[in-house]
Formats: sequence, structure tokens, C-alpha cells
Amino acid sequence: DVADLPGVPDWLPDHLRADGIEQLYPPQAEAVEAGVTEGQNIVAAIPTASGKTLVAELAMLSAVARGGKALYIVPLRALASEKQAEFEQFEQYGLSVGVSTGNYESDGGWLGDKDIVVATSEKVDSLVRNDAPWLEDLTCVVSDEVHLVDDGQRGPTLEVTLAKLRRLNPDLQTVALSATIGNAGELAGWLDAELVDSDWRPIELQKGVHYGQALHLEDGSQHRLSVQNSEKPTAAIVRDTLQDDTDEDGNVEEGGSTLVFVNSRRNAEAAAGRLASTVRPHLSADEKAQLEGIAAEIRDVSDTETSDDLADAVKDGAAFHHAGLARGHRELVEQAFQDRLVKVVCATPTLAAGVNTPSRRVVVRDWRRYDGSAGGMAPLSVLEVHQMMGRAGRPGLDPYGEAVLVASSHDELDELFERYVWADPEPVRSKLAAEPALRTHILATVASGFARSRSGLLEFLEQTLYASQTDESGRLERVVDDVLTYLERNGFLEVDAGELDATSLGHTVSRLYLDPMSAAEIVDGLEYWARHAGKETASDEPDEAAADGFTTASELAEEREENDAVDPDDISALGLYHLVSRTPDMYQLYLRSGDREEYEMALYEREDELLGPTPSEFEDERFEDWLSALKTARLLEDWASEVDEETITERYGVGPGDIRGKVETAQWLLGAAESLAGEVDSDAARAISKARIRVEHGVRAELVDLAGVRGVGRKRARRLFEAGIADRAQLRDAAKPVVLAALRGRRKTAENVLENAGHRNPSMEGVEPDPDVEVSEE
Ligand code: ADP
Repeated sequence: DVADLPGVPDWLPDHLRADGIEQLYPPQAEAVEAGVTEGQNIVAAIPTASGKTLVAELAMLSAVARGGKALYIVPLRALASEKQAEFEQFEQYGLSVGVSTGNYESDGGWLGDKDIVVATSEKVDSLVRNDAPWLEDLTCVVSDEVHLVDDGQRGPTLEVTLAKLRRLNPDLQTVALSATIGNAGELAGWLDAELVDSDWRPIELQKGVHYGQALHLEDGSQHRLSVQNSEKPTAAIVRDTLQDDTDEDGNVEEGGSTLVFVNSRRNAEAAAGRLASTVRPHLSADEKAQLEGIAAEIRDVSDTETSDDLADAVKDGAAFHHAGLARGHRELVEQAFQDRLVKVVCATPTLAAGVNTPSRRVVVRDWRRYDGSAGGMAPLSVLEVHQMMGRAGRPGLDPYGEAVLVASSHDELDELFERYVWADPEPVRSKLAAEPALRTHILATVASGFARSRSGLLEFLEQTLYASQTDESGRLERVVDDVLTYLERNGFLEVDAGELDATSLGHTVSRLYLDPMSAAEIVDGLEYWARHAGKETASDEPDEAAADGFTTASELAEEREENDAVDPDDISALGLYHLVSRTPDMYQLYLRSGDREEYEMALYEREDELLGPTPSEFEDERFEDWLSALKTARLLEDWASEVDEETITERYGVGPGDIRGKVETAQWLLGAAESLAGEVDSDAARAISKARIRVEHGVRAELVDLAGVRGVGRKRARRLFEAGIADRAQLRDAAKPVVLAALRGRRKTAENVLENAGHRNPSMEGVEPDPDVEVSEE
């Protein structure tokens, strides 16, 4: 009973009751018995939707009640705001909550006053690197979805970060929440924690496979679907779920909703569009009216194609959900699904793991997805599929949940039963021993003082999951030595008789949150440019000058001297974009068939602009990488030359979200390159800064100032420029009718823009657009 919880604040029982929680779920009760409210380390491996969040809250609230401070580590940036909103309900009792994502270079000083902080593991790692003093005050850390230590990309960061936090404060309470996995006991061993390992679910789950017009369920039963002509399996399931059911006793069970998991954002959008026509005939007039209202709200969130597509689907009772949606969109979709207005949501697995959207049925339509490192389609893990399936069944509403995969042949039916329905989730394994991960984390561990010698470093690494899982003796030592050699050779570390010291460059790289290999590539590129760029102009120009016959010898000598000094404006933006695109911190675009020829041509045309020697074509892999980086760089160049989004998406075969992703990464890496230029005394900083701002706003050089005014952006900046307004100062002084015309008569926009440019009286009342200003169409 919630009245009998030791160690929690007095107000909590009433608060929980007001939320409909009178009794703890069994795994929650187990966690309390194991001491979660009394500072005990806990690993809780329990199924999706079985109340893990409350376990975390019990730990954090009791820690704060004892005068401490708690940190909640989320696996995805998109989940941070969600958790923040959830914990902010405690602010009415005087607790403060802060969230920290993004910007990896500050120490987040303001978070020092908060009782509960929510952050991603990358953010926490960067806070450690930047010596955030308040980290030592933490008394409780919660790691959500800790099974993701298995993730090759992000797992090592979580693993090392937990080890560092625990070293900063040896009394730190660690609470790790995990999906059901094969080896939860190992995680508990690693974290010196009590284990709560449970299969209990608040509502029964029936897993199965759809094949040949029927759902085959794990208890051996079959549920036949009525299929309308040429209907796809997913549509048939969605329609079947929408229909009311009458059981043997004549009880009517109202129609329900379906959650469909697919393998990409684009597929989620396409499936939602198609399923809208399945749902539409089942909507009542009242539902249609309400959905129209939500669709309008969705269009209000943003003025993009995604927004339009989402609104169109929602109006018909269907929706898509993925990490590329704006937060406002996600919230509207989740709410409408919970309110049972939206009847089907098509989602990608990434986000669905953390969002609380139970549904009568779950369809896992795609069980393979594109995996770059595998070079093709790869099957999802059992763990992922079970997490998706776990979203089936709404406690208190459904008798049980049903979750099915979709098979296209009888063989596949058997395979999917074997592979997923009967299978146990995989054990979680540390990925720390991968070189890129170790490179980054060893440098950071030395730079932030967690280890000052080779033996200290090994001792620190002994506290990781990796060390507790590996029994091959000497392996850790061997990779560590390789990495130390690499870091020393590239000037990041000094090694002296087993003592380790980060160089100034090493400290900068660690604080910038760069992979040391990226930093080495950038430094090499800048040095290459300093050696080569000036020389070319020095040899070209005197020839020309001599040709016109009027240059004296002394003038020639003078000119030669000037040309020997490198002109920083000579660096081509493409060269810089290529430089950052070939670092391991940038996900490059892949070369598609036919691309190779195109980019080989482009390479020979523009080789002079690149900051480094082109690898020989016999070094197959490096050459291919070089070309992929060029493709990525050209995308960035197009973006920074005001090529419109639609053309870019077609030219490179990417989605709008991908452009944004590349642009954000390039912005970050160019910012880091600017700092590195300072570190190695390069003259390139100004040119890098210009290239960075162009990418940030997606504009040519002449628009950089205008596009920096909030609310302007690349298209409006171009129109203002065409109307004769070249920069922020001119915008303030411009005639209002001209501004209004350039902004296509939109008064509200014009007022906003003028205000942001620092205009004293931005009002557009009574102003008419100047008819002489020609405005280009969209
Ligand atoms: P997950 O394990 O996926 O994090 P949640 O913590 O989101 O699951 O819990 C799922 C739902 O169960 C939430 O809506 C939550 O309010 C509800 N819930 C959690 N604990 C209890 C309880 N003891 N009694 C009733 N409902 C509960």
C-alpha cells in the first residue's frame, strides 16, 4: 500500500492516490523491499509499461527528502523533455527540476540549484569533462533503459559515465532501469546492486504472428480476420481492431486502436497515409469534428510538409510518430491516441521505446531495418521486438493485449515464432573495447583527472561493465596500450614512465567532445592548407603580372612576399565541409550506384579546394570514404548556397530531417575546428567561422548578417536582399512598405522581424506593401 513506503516525502501517498495509484505493482514492491527508497543500489529489469518510472521516482524523491540531489539519465534527447514534464508535477511540493541536453561545452552551472536534473548520457559525460562542480553533490543517479550499454554507438558513453559518477561520489545511489534481458544479474553485479528481475505485467500479453488472414497466437489459438479485397495485412488488422467484439456471453467490447511499428520515418509516414483510408469510414461525426480541430493545431505547430502530411492523416484518425517530429506534434499525437480519437499510430522503434502509448493491438510490420555497418538490412534484436510488443494492452481497458509480427510465407511464420515469439531477449554486452569508443573515453578520463597513470587508467577501467564481462586476460591492457600509443603520437597525451598527462590540445579535444581521430584529421587538414594554399597563388600571380610587362622587379619581389603569407579567405567552404565530413564524427552519405562516377568527376574538378591529399584509387576503402565525404560536403555546400530543400532531398536521396542532422553536425564540427585552429596557431579561424555561419543559416556569404536576425531565415533573407536591404542595420533603416512587400505582405511577420532587428517602432499598422518591389515566388 502506498501509505507504507519508508523514506518517501509525506505528501507522496496522497499524490499517488490522486493519480489512481493505491498499491504498488509487484516489481515496484520488490524494489522497495530491496531498499530503493533507502539509498540502496538497484537494477530493475521489468517489462515495458510495468511501472519503471515510479521506481525511479521513489528513489529520487526519497534521495531529495534526505537532502540530496538526483540525476535522471535518458537515452534519447527526445525523451528528456518528456521526463522533465513528468517530474515537474513535483514542483508543487517545492522541488525544482532542470533539464540539460545539447551544447556539449558548458558546465551547466545553473543546474547546481536543481533537486532533480534530467540529461542524456552524452550531456552528463560532457558535464564531467567540463568539471561541473555540482556533480559531486549528486546522491542518486537513475539510468533509464540501461540495456542500451549494448549499443555500439552510445553504450560506451553511458558505461563510462556511470563509472565516473560513481567514482566522484562513492556513496552515490545507482538505480538502473532495464527492459527484460538475458543477463540482468551481470548488470547488478557490475553496479553492486540488488536485482529486481520480473516478468510481471499489469495486463496479459499474447504474442503471435499474422499469416494468411489470421493471427496465430502463442497460446495456440487463432483469430481469423475478415479481409476485404486486396487489403494488406496491416490494414486488415487495423480494421479488425476497430470493430466492436461480442464475446460468448454477449458482452460488447468496444473497438480499439493499433500501434504499427515500421523501420523508417518515411515508411511511418507512408503507412499512416494509407491506413487513414482504412480508419476514416469508422469515425463518428463527433470524432471527425474533434480530429479536424487537432489537425488544425498540428498545422499551427509548424509550416512544413511534414506538418501538412501529419494533419492530413490525423483528420482521418491516423498518425505517424518518429524522432523527426516537432515536440508539439508528438504531444498532440500522443494525447489524441490516448483519448482514442486517433485509432492508429505508425511509429519507428527508436522513439516508441520510451513513450507511454499503450494500445489494444501492436503490429510489428518490419522486423528488419537498414543497418549501415552491416551494409544492408539486418534483423531487429529480440529485445527491441519485445519492447515494441510490450506496448499492447491498456490496463483497465482491454482484457489482454495482442502483439503480432507479419509473415509473408508459411516458412516465415515458423521463423518468426522461433526468432521472436518463443525467443528470450539477448544478453547485454559491453561495447567499450571498440577502438573509437576507447580513444574518446581514455583521453577524456585522463584529461579530466580520473586517471594519471597507465595503472590508474587500468584500475578505473576495471570498474566498467566491460571489465566485469571479459575473461580473456590481458585483452583490455592490449587495447589500452594501442590507444595510448595513438593518443601520444597525435599529440593529445604525453606518456612518461607510465605517467599520463593530457596536452593542451588533448584538453581542448576532450572538452569539445570530439573523437580524437576527428581532431587529428582536422588538425592535419589545417596544416596541409597552411603548407599548400599560399604557394599556389604565389607561383601563379607573378607570371600574370610579368606578362603585362609593366611590373618592376622590386614590385614583383614585394608581391611574392605578400603571397607567401597565406590568405585565410582562400580556404574554400567546400574544402572545410569536406574536411569535417571525413571525420568519424560525421555520418557520411553513402554512395549509391552511379554516384561513384559522378563524384569522381567532381573530385577531379575540385581537388584543389580539398584540405588534404586525395588517397590513391588503389586504397579502395579510403578512396571511397573520400568520395562519400565529398558527397556530404556537396550537400552542405548546396545548403549554404541557398539551393532549396526539395532539390537537395532529391539530389542526395535524403529526407528533410537528414539535411537538418548533417547541418547540425557540421555546425558543431566547424565550431570545434575553429577552436582547434586557435590551438594550433592556424590562420584559418575566420574562414571557418564564415563557413559555419553559412551552414547554420543555409545562405551565401552576403546574407550571413541578415539571416542571423531571428525570424528571418534563408528565404526571407534572400527576398529582403533582393529588395535592396543588405544587412541588419539597413533592415532597421529601411522603408516599411519595402520591408512589408519583401515579406510578401505578412504584417505579423514583418513586425516580428523588425522588432528582432532592433527597430524601435516595428508596428506595420496602416503600412501598405510597396508595389515596386518585385518578390520572387516560393
Ligand atoms: P514503464 O515501465 O514503461 O516506464 P510506466 O512507468 O510508464 O512504464 O508505467 C505505465 C503506466 O502504469 C503509467 O501510466 C503509470 O501511471 C501506471 N502505473 C505505474 N505504477 C502503477 C501502480 N502501482 N498502480 C497503477 N498504475 C500504475
